[in-house]
Amino acid sequence: MLYCYKCGKKNDEDAEHCIKCGTNLYKSNRFEENLEKFAKEIGERAEKFGKKVEKKVKEFAKSTEGKLYANLKHCSNCNKDLDYDAKYCWKCGNEV
Ligand SMILES: [Zn+2]
Ligand SMILES: [Zn+2]
Repeated sequence: MLYCYKCGKKNDEDAEHCIKCGTNLYKSNRFEENLEKFAKEIGERAEKFGKKVEKKVKEFAKSTEGKLYANLKHCSNCNKDLDYDAKYCWKCGNEV
């Protein structure tokens, strides 16, 4: 079974013309048309997928950045950057 590339009608495998619209179904024509269509579709899908992934990555980066920033502590005495789990400032010994 093959499908007409113009109207989508099912035709016999050895049909040379579509029984519905009369389109020439010679294999060379059909193959090239389908390939072009297929390549275009894949291209569009890849583009959409790429945009989705890009968005996700940006969202992830944003959320991670927020968390990392929230985890950073500063000494209230000397204002040095401290690890998020630090209990005492490495510089001045101030309890944080
Ligand atoms: Zn047709
Ligand atoms: Zn300090």
